[in-house]
Amino acid sequence: MPLTKKQTNEIKDFLLGEQERLRNAFAVDEERYQLKTDDRKDEVDQASADYERSQLLRFRNRDLFYAKKINKALEKMNEDEYGICDECGSDIKFERLKARPTAEMCIACKDEAEREESANFIARQSKSLGKQIDLVKSL
Ligand SMILES: [Zn+2]
Repeated sequence: MPLTKKQTNEIKDFLLGEQERLRNAFAVDEERYQLKTDDRKDEVDQASADYERSQLLRFRNRDLFYAKKINKALEKMNEDEYGICDECGSDIKFERLKARPTAEMCIACKDEAEREESANFIARQSKSLGKQIDLVKSL
């Protein structure tokens, strides 16, 4: 069953709030970095400002990823494609979207994708274990 207008709006409000929160956080980061840039006097300051910026970016990576997913979800809402599974095209349940508003797959496809992922992971693991055993044998 597709989402009702009311359900979509409920999630949209939440996503817009999250977007605002992240935007503010990014703006604060930017401001802080600007101050640091203006203060710096020598190469050491420069290096430490660069280091801080890289730490900040690493710290913010997850937020940036999340912000992108939010944008995508909002775009989909505008195009009336929100709540439709990317994989099989069926409707994603409201309960799932409420818990995970940026979900792009229905629970069945998500489970499938995760199973594949963990199967690949195990395959990779045993492959590298195989290499290790070969290595030990060759010693
Ligand atoms: Zn699906």
